[in-house]
Amino acid sequence: MQHQALLENYLRQLRLPTFATNYQSFSQDAARTDLPYERFLLALCEAEVASREAHRVERAIAQAKFPVIKELSTFDFSATPNIPKQRVLELAQGGYLAKAETVILIGNPGLGKTHIATGLALAACKQGKRVRFYGVMSLVNDLLSAQKDLRLSRFMAHIGKLDLLVLDEVGFIPFGKDSAQLLFQLCSDLYERVSIIVTTNLRFGDWNSIFGDERMTAALLDRLTHKASILEFVGESYRFRQRLQAEQQGTETKAATS
Ligand code: ADP
Ligand code: MG
Repeated sequence: MQHQALLENYLRQLRLPTFATNYQSFSQDAARTDLPYERFLLALCEAEVASREAHRVERAIAQAKFPVIKELSTFDFSATPNIPKQRVLELAQGGYLAKAETVILIGNPGLGKTHIATGLALAACKQGKRVRFYGVMSLVNDLLSAQKDLRLSRFMAHIGKLDLLVLDEVGFIPFGKDSAQLLFQLCSDLYERVSIIVTTNLRFGDWNSIFGDERMTAALLDRLTHKASILEFVGESYRFRQRLQAEQQGTETKAATS
C-alpha cells in the first residue's frame, strides 16, 4: 500500500496523470494475459501520449474561439459545384500554413464560406497550430481598444504568434479611417509570417468602399492576394434552398394525400 502511495506521488511529480489513472487496471490485465513488461509500459505510454494530444487539440480549439464549430465533414460539396471538395481537403492538410499563405473565400451570404473557414481552421487546430477566429468587426474593436490603452504593439505581437488568423465577414460594414489603418497595419505585419483566411461578400474591385483609402486598399489587396488560394462561392443560400426544398416536399405530400 505504501509503495502505491509513493508511486502515485512520483507520477504526479512527473506529470503523468494518465499513467496514474491506468496503471492498476493495465497491470492487472498484463498479469492475467502474461504480457511482457515492455508491452505493459508501452501501453501506459501510448495512453498518456494520446490523452495529452487530445487535451492539446481541445485547448487549441478553445483558444481559437470559434463562434460555432463546423467540420468540413458536414459540408455538402454537391451544393457548391464550383468549390471542388478535393481542393478544400488539400487545403485542410495545411500546406498553406507552413508557407504563411492566404485563403480567400468570396461570395454571397449563406453559401458556406464561414463553414469552410471554420472547418479549415479546425483542421489546423488538430495539426497543433495556433489559431484565432475573429469576426472582423470584433478584431477591429480589439485593435482600437489596444491602441487606446497603449498596448497596440503587444496585441499585434500576440496575433503575430498565431499560425492562422481567420477574418470572417469582411465587407458587411465599412471601416472608419482609424480602423482601416489598424487592419492594414496588422495585415502588413502578418504578411508572409501568419496565414490568414478571409471570408467576404465583396469582390476585390469593391474593397475600396469599405476601406475608404484607394492606395491603402490596393496595398492591402496586394499583400492578401499574393500567393492566395481564392475560392469563389456562387449560387443561392444553402439554408434558403433547403427550406424551399422542404416546402416543396411538403406541398407534394399534401397534394399526394389530398
Ligand atoms: P456564409 O458564411 O457564406 O454566409 P455560412 O457558412 O454561414 O455561409 O452558411 C450558412 C449556414 O448554412 C451554416 O449553418 C452552414 O453550416 C450551412 N451551409 C452552407 N452551405 C452548406 C453546405 N454546402 N453544406 C452544409 N451546410 C451548409
Ligand atoms: Mg459567413
